Amino acid sequence: MRRTYIAGNWKMNKTATEGVELANELKAAVAGCNAKVLVAPPFTTIPAVKEVLAGSNILVGAQNMSDNESGAHTGEISPAMLKDLGVDVVILGHSERRAIYGENDAFINRKVKLALSYGFEVILCIGETLEERESGKAEAVCLTQLVGGLEGVAKEDMANIVIAYEPVWAIGTGKTATPEDADSIHAFIRKEVEKLFDKQAADDVIIQYGGSVKPDNVKDLMAKENIDGALVGGASLKSELFVPIVTFDK
Ligand code: PEP
Repeated sequence: MRRTYIAGNWKMNKTATEGVELANELKAAVAGCNAKVLVAPPFTTIPAVKEVLAGSNILVGAQNMSDNESGAHTGEISPAMLKDLGVDVVILGHSERRAIYGENDAFINRKVKLALSYGFEVILCIGETLEERESGKAEAVCLTQLVGGLEGVAKEDMANIVIAYEPVWAIGTGKTATPEDADSIHAFIRKEVEKLFDKQAADDVIIQYGGSVKPDNVKDLMAKENIDGALVGGASLKSELFVPIVTFDK
């Protein structure tokens, strides 16, 4: 039985002061909810949010991580630095990292393996652009990103891998994939996980949907067999939007 997993990616929003305010609102409002819940603040906001959320049911994640352990990598954040802050989860391969900062599958794969070796749970983001979807390449693109991102990952480590299917054309645009279209790609991803690993890994892997998830579309998306949760961007920045998403089943 896969547990619903709702994650909020704050992107480059919320100073530490603003993050504390939001974390306090969320802490009270989602206590006792059924879903597994994560927030991923910017690096500099993590310590303050972590302090507020200590002892709560909300995990704290990072939005990125270096592919190196230490050394001359100006501006990067190492796995040990995140561990030291008590971070539980790292989001890797977000489409903004791929498109704006040129991250490719081999680079993301190095980070995935490094993060797993430090005991992080990894949310690996994959998804096609509008052009790729319109030219019938959605599955092929997702497959390349899935296989590339998971290259060399051991079956036992799949317990610490979450896949986020995020069609790029749906991120921050207000356009959501229909629950049917999203479920069809999720089913495809699950089948491919089975081919890469085995049926158990495929049955157990959590596949989140991301792309303009809002309080008014979350229920229909979560009702689909292969959609196990959501990675939420814009709507995770306001408690009045994120709380109803997390508690959609109440
Ligand atoms: C995201 O950035 O992962 C995302 C899904 O953003 P939004 O919910 O704003 O579309």
